[in-house]
Amino acid sequence: MINVEHLTKSYGKHEVLKDISTTVAKGEVVAVIGPSGSGKSTFLRCLNLLETPTSGRITIDGVDLTDRKTDITRVRQHIGMVFQHFHLFPHMTVMDNLIFAPTRVKGVSREEAVAKGMELLDRVGLKDKADFYPSRLSGGQKQRVAIARSLAMDPDIMLFDEPTSALDPEMVKEVLAVIRDLASSGMTMLIVTHEMNFAREAANTIYFIDGGQLLERSTPDSFFAKPKTERAARFLEQVL
Ligand code: ADP
Ligand code: MG
Repeated sequence: MINVEHLTKSYGKHEVLKDISTTVAKGEVVAVIGPSGSGKSTFLRCLNLLETPTSGRITIDGVDLTDRKTDITRVRQHIGMVFQHFHLFPHMTVMDNLIFAPTRVKGVSREEAVAKGMELLDRVGLKDKADFYPSRLSGGQKQRVAIARSLAMDPDIMLFDEPTSALDPEMVKEVLAVIRDLASSGMTMLIVTHEMNFAREAANTIYFIDGGQLLERSTPDSFFAKPKTERAARFLEQVL
């Protein structure tokens, strides 16, 4: 579904991503792990062109993202992204957050968008919060709304960049449960995370990125039991 070939990204002289090639299959759940500053966010952001690759090619469902003729806005509609900080619209209720893009960008009717919005709130366990403003929600609830808002666009791919890193510990679980549910529903996902237990249980594949290189691509079992590189072994020693 996603095909990355020789992706590089530089900021000036600083090469942040170095010749990354990989493929992600439909329904695959990838946990992206690695030290801070290693290029994980940049990698994810290249996949929906929030960053423009310096060189290389990314195709999603056969559409070449790096081709200048490709309509990026169309491509992005199929890719949901959830960030560490939730980026909800603060002046809108939860429901208005959910229906904003479907009604404005996709031309879905308000009624239809609200019905779908309720379904999604139910799915993330927040059916009773439709009329709340984000300021009245906990961090975990805000993040679940942010996930529901992404899902409202019916994405084929979901990208998560440290979705639980800004949360108090007691709220991490509820957000991971929603992501886990999504994973088992067959959604194609890439998740940058520091939650090693979650990565081990929920992902099909672990990407270990260090210094801008995709150093390892393995199953959770083999990665956590026996990392192939010295750098991954050292990283695991520090975080486990
Ligand atoms: P990670 O998500 O793994 O912590 P990032 O992808 O955010 O790493 O960053 C990788 C490297 O790229 C870091 O050295 C960071 O300072 C640098 N970087 C990220 N974004 C920019 C930017 N917009 N301009 C310049 N350097 C950047
Ligand atoms: Mg990051």
